[in-house]
Amino acid sequence: MSSPDVFSTPDPSDDEDSDGSQKDFHESLKMKGEFHSHLEKSIRPYIDLVDTLRSVGIHKDLGLPSIVVIGDQSSGKSSVLEALSGIALPRGSGIVTRCPLELRLKKVPGVKWKAVLTYDKKLNESVTFLAGPIKPSKLANGKLSQSENKIEFADPSLIEAQVEAAQNELAGKGVGICEELITLEIMSPEVCDLTLIDLPGIARVPVEGQPEDIGKQIKRLILKYIKKQETINLVVVPCNTDIATTEALKMAQEVDPEGKRTVAILTKPDLIDKGTEKRVLDIIHNRVIPLRKGYIMVKCRGQQQIDDDVPLEEAAQMERDFFQNHDYFRCLLEEDKVTIKCLSIKLTQDLVDHIKTSLPDLQDQIQKELWSVKRALKGCEDGPPEDLEGAKEFLIEILNGFNEKIKSLLSGEPENGKGLFSQIRAEFKKWNDRLNSTKPPFTSKESSEAYRGRELPGFSNYIVFERILQQHVAKLKDPAIDLLSAVKDIIVKQFTVVMNECFENYQALRNITKDKINDIQLNQQEKAEQRISEQFKMENRIFTQDPIFMKVLSEITNQTFSENEIPVFDKQCKYGLLLETYYEIALQRLSDQVPLMIIYYMFEETARMLCVHVMKLLDNPDVYELLSEDSEVSRRRSELRARQIRLTSAAKVISSFFKG
Ligand code: GDP
Ligand code: MG
Repeated sequence: MSSPDVFSTPDPSDDEDSDGSQKDFHESLKMKGEFHSHLEKSIRPYIDLVDTLRSVGIHKDLGLPSIVVIGDQSSGKSSVLEALSGIALPRGSGIVTRCPLELRLKKVPGVKWKAVLTYDKKLNESVTFLAGPIKPSKLANGKLSQSENKIEFADPSLIEAQVEAAQNELAGKGVGICEELITLEIMSPEVCDLTLIDLPGIARVPVEGQPEDIGKQIKRLILKYIKKQETINLVVVPCNTDIATTEALKMAQEVDPEGKRTVAILTKPDLIDKGTEKRVLDIIHNRVIPLRKGYIMVKCRGQQQIDDDVPLEEAAQMERDFFQNHDYFRCLLEEDKVTIKCLSIKLTQDLVDHIKTSLPDLQDQIQKELWSVKRALKGCEDGPPEDLEGAKEFLIEILNGFNEKIKSLLSGEPENGKGLFSQIRAEFKKWNDRLNSTKPPFTSKESSEAYRGRELPGFSNYIVFERILQQHVAKLKDPAIDLLSAVKDIIVKQFTVVMNECFENYQALRNITKDKINDIQLNQQEKAEQRISEQFKMENRIFTQDPIFMKVLSEITNQTFSENEIPVFDKQCKYGLLLETYYEIALQRLSDQVPLMIIYYMFEETARMLCVHVMKLLDNPDVYELLSEDSEVSRRRSELRARQIRLTSAAKVISSFFKG
């Protein structure tokens, strides 16, 4: 669509236009007009769609179809981009492209030439995030304007300096590289609709001042872009090198082995070694390294022509002449395999095809992302309302939620508390096993000898009997205290889990509750210890009701005794049997009694006290203080909400696209 009024477009800067670059610019506009006259009605909507998606900021969440330019250093990447876009990019030796540069060329009818350079502010600058609920309008484009640099300009000759300044800011002055994306959007009625990303060239050896691993750094950066399925990889390879050894092509093949989204561009055909033309023809005819999307050869301006300021339009004519006069490459003109113009047409077509095939997948991805954002939002949404009444109600609700959970722990339903009761039961079983393992061999002579007083052998009396039992039972006190502390740990842990779940976003509430849990537990532990000590003091008195004693005795001896016929114990062994019987009874008592006390003091009472104390928090005059959110949470919520807005708009854009 090279309409004649292209040339009557007012000068972009509207002031003195003696500047050479302005002239170049207009000439390049004319060139663009020719190049993109093929943009048919069937193509535009797709490019518009991706532009719209990008303008809602969806590229922050998903990969959008785009074209990435990679190649070894000085292979001619910038020259190709320049020829395609008609704008001058930073040039020189060493690494010139030091940050990924996204070139968005936008055809906008009826506007003056305008460029906008955007890049994120360096992270070390303090970035303020919007707190609290975010008004959708602020984030309709998905951007937090505070964290971005945005420079608009209307003079094409400023591009080079502006890009360089941005690179210096992001990657530091010098030769380092950086992963931050610089976006250069160019709007004009005359540019083509393409988005291209220029990446740093692959350096073989570090130049002075560069880190040793610069090659690795650059490759990592390149890989990040070219591995995305949504990207078409433009690999720039000079004709005068051995293409098979080109690092860039190797990388592209690794991420796209079938060559479905790789286009190779052969540059510098004018510098080709005499005698290698046939091999280059073989390559371009896909006979050496086959690529589904194939090869295109272009001739850009050489250094001399750049120094001489040969306009891009003239360079295009020279390119055409070059191929027409070339003995070997002439045939390629008819095959549409040479010239920048051909490349431009091919790229636009490729990009549109790519958009078409990516769309269903993009829709899927948007839906999936929306789901995961919704899920994530559930975790941090419903922050406290701003009005006092609302905030109070909110507080009541979350405190109630906590109490409900604690009560359901108490009720001991199996699905609650991730096996709290089974953990406690395991401790009680250990206790029981431990008790059983302490049964001494009361029948041996030494055992009673050790407890004998001044009496002669044979005069064993009740005092010895008591003394033996008292000493054995006393040994069980320490294990009982250990059990208490083990169960306490389990319960504190479980309460803490509930607390973290219910007060996830509220640091102040968590701190207060944590202190409460610890206070109550310590207090209760002391009480329980007291009770256990008492129990052991009581055990000093040898006591049991006769029938139980008889029953156990019958079990142990396998004989039946009744209260009326008490067996006669005259020998040592029978005496031992009595000891054994009583000890068994004492063990059974302790085996139940200690756990019962622990459960009562450490769990039931604590849970009740905790619920009461938590409700008392409602008396706290400063509701807002209690409900102050962790800053991380409100930040995350803002981010998620912004993402949700972007994704929802993107889904709408696509669905209305399909509706036509
Ligand atoms: P980059 O480092 O890959 O961006 O490479 P440049 O685009 O800066 O090009 C490196 C050098 O090769 C520059 O001096 C260009 O003028 C030169 N150059 C690029 N393409 C051609 C070409 O087709 N023919 C000739 N003779 N020189 C070229
Ligand atoms: Mg370059």
